[in-house]
Amino acid sequence: MNIIQTISSAPVLVQARDVHKSYGANEVLKGIDLDVRIGETVVILGPSGSGKSTLLRCINHLESMQKGSILVGGEQVGYVKRDGKLYYANAAQLARQRHGIGMVFQQFNLYPHMTVMQNIIEAPVGVYKEKRASAEDYARMLLKRVGLLEKASAYPRQLSGGQQQRVAIARALAIKPKLMLFDEPTSALDPELVGEVLATMRDLASSGLTMIVVTHEISFAREAADRVIFMDGGRIVEEGPPDQVLVNPKHPRTRAFLNRVI
Ligand code: ADP
Ligand code: MG
Repeated sequence: MNIIQTISSAPVLVQARDVHKSYGANEVLKGIDLDVRIGETVVILGPSGSGKSTLLRCINHLESMQKGSILVGGEQVGYVKRDGKLYYANAAQLARQRHGIGMVFQQFNLYPHMTVMQNIIEAPVGVYKEKRASAEDYARMLLKRVGLLEKASAYPRQLSGGQQQRVAIARALAIKPKLMLFDEPTSALDPELVGEVLATMRDLASSGLTMIVVTHEISFAREAADRVIFMDGGRIVEEGPPDQVLVNPKHPRTRAFLNRVI
C-alpha cells in the first residue's frame, strides 16, 4: 500500500466545520470546512490577511470562533461535553487538550534567559509534571533529530535564527503532540537559513506526524505536502494534491498568487 492510500483511509484528526470568525465587523473566516487525517501534511497558502493564522489559532483555541466547530481527536478544543451539552473547558481541561497540539510561530519566542535544554523541558516538566530526567532524555533525542545536540547548554542569543527555530520545533515536539501547527516558520529567517528549517520539517512530515503548515515556501509544499490548500478572503478557494494546485491551479486567484510568489 502506498502512502497516499494509507493516509486517505486514516482516521480524521482535525475536523473543521463551517468555521466563522470575526474581529468586530471584520469577518476573517467565512465558513471553513477542513478535514486533516492522521499522518497528513497539509500546507496552507494564501495572501497576507486571508485568515491563515486565524485558522491555526482557532484550531488550538488561542482564538474563539463565532460559529462552527473544530474537533481535534474528536474533542472541541476549549470545550468539554457533559450529558450531551458543551461547556467551556477549565484551565486544566484546556491544558490537557492543548497537550496534543504543538505550535511553531514565525518568531521563535524562546526564553532568552534559559538554555536550549531548559527551553525544551519547560513545558513537559513545568506544565505537564514529567520527571526531569526522562524529559531531558527525550529532549536530547529531539535535539539530535533537529541536528543540535551539541547546543543543549547554549543560550538562544548564541544561536543563529535557523538554529533557534529548530530549537523551537524541538520544544513544540517535547510535549509529544499528535498535531503540529506551523505558522510561517521560515518567514523571519535570512534566506540562507531557511533550508535547514525546511529540512527538519520535511523529516517530520515523512515520519508520519500530522502537520498543518502555513508557508510561502512553494518548494516545501511541492515536496512535503500531501495536500495544498489555497485560502483567500477567509475562504478555502481551492485544495488538492500539490501537483494539481501548484502546477495546474483551477482558480484564477490561486494562479495569480502563485505567479506572484514563484
Ligand atoms: P494571514 O495569516 O492570512 O495573513 P490573519 O489571520 O493574520 O491573516 O488575519 C486575517 C485578518 O484578520 C486581517 O484582516 C487581520 O487584520 C485581522 N486580524 C487578525 N488578528 C486580529 C486581531 N487580533 N484583532 C483584529 N483583527 C485581527
Ligand atoms: Mg499569518
